[in-house]
Amino acid sequence: MRSQLNLLVQKLNEIEGLRKISLTTNGVLLQDQLAELVVAGLRHVNVSLDALDEESFKGATRRGGLDKVLGGIDAAQRAGMVVKVNSIAMRGLTDHQIVAFGEFTRRTGIPVRFIEFMPLDSDGNWNTSAVLSGAEIVEMFSSQIRPLVPIERNGSSPSTDYRFDDGIGTVGVIASVSKPFCDSCDRFRLTADGQLRNCLFGQDSGDVRALLRGDASDESISQMIQSAVATKKRGHGTDDLTFLRPSRPMHAIGG
Ligand code: SF4
Repeated sequence: MRSQLNLLVQKLNEIEGLRKISLTTNGVLLQDQLAELVVAGLRHVNVSLDALDEESFKGATRRGGLDKVLGGIDAAQRAGMVVKVNSIAMRGLTDHQIVAFGEFTRRTGIPVRFIEFMPLDSDGNWNTSAVLSGAEIVEMFSSQIRPLVPIERNGSSPSTDYRFDDGIGTVGVIASVSKPFCDSCDRFRLTADGQLRNCLFGQDSGDVRALLRGDASDESISQMIQSAVATKKRGHGTDDLTFLRPSRPMHAIGG
């Protein structure tokens, strides 16, 4: 029997004009599900991976399974998928992983993108001193591996990407805290429970599921989406004293 995920990928693939479907995953079940996902039409996968040694990985995820995640990444790459690794940039965690991640991207050719730690953690432990900035990460790779050279920005990607100066290995930084890029953000999300989110730091801004289950017209769904886009704020406001943590942590928004 096909899983709900495979079915979703297959149905999305049938939509004319949809150019890219990408799965963001913790990678634990990737290897097991890969063959069916490929058949369903998935070609892009982003794997969240915060550490490359078992102990740090356990500390970051509160479970083991690093070997399964690495096995999934390897299998996806061998199946011809475009694979990227996303990693949180956190002081006390990432600074001990620089050499390992540098060797990883240079060995596999898989780009690793570091996302500054944002106040979207489920424990509410975020504080500014735990944020390892994108600039610090670039400096660490350059001093501990080889100098990094910027790559020209591609489309609306929030990542600033670099390649090592010998052309082998790619590192990206998403400096969402130290250098916010909200003025050029075109992200808009539909959560797994059918809620619109016009910003990671916003609140739910429309209940599409309720409209669909209530037999609403396409027109009213379209109006809800347009109004959610129109109320997108100019910035996330984490540096504002009135900032309120969003009610949903990152894992409940969908990356
Ligand atoms: S507008 Fe919201 S989702 Fe977009 S970059 Fe800023 S914080 Fe992130």
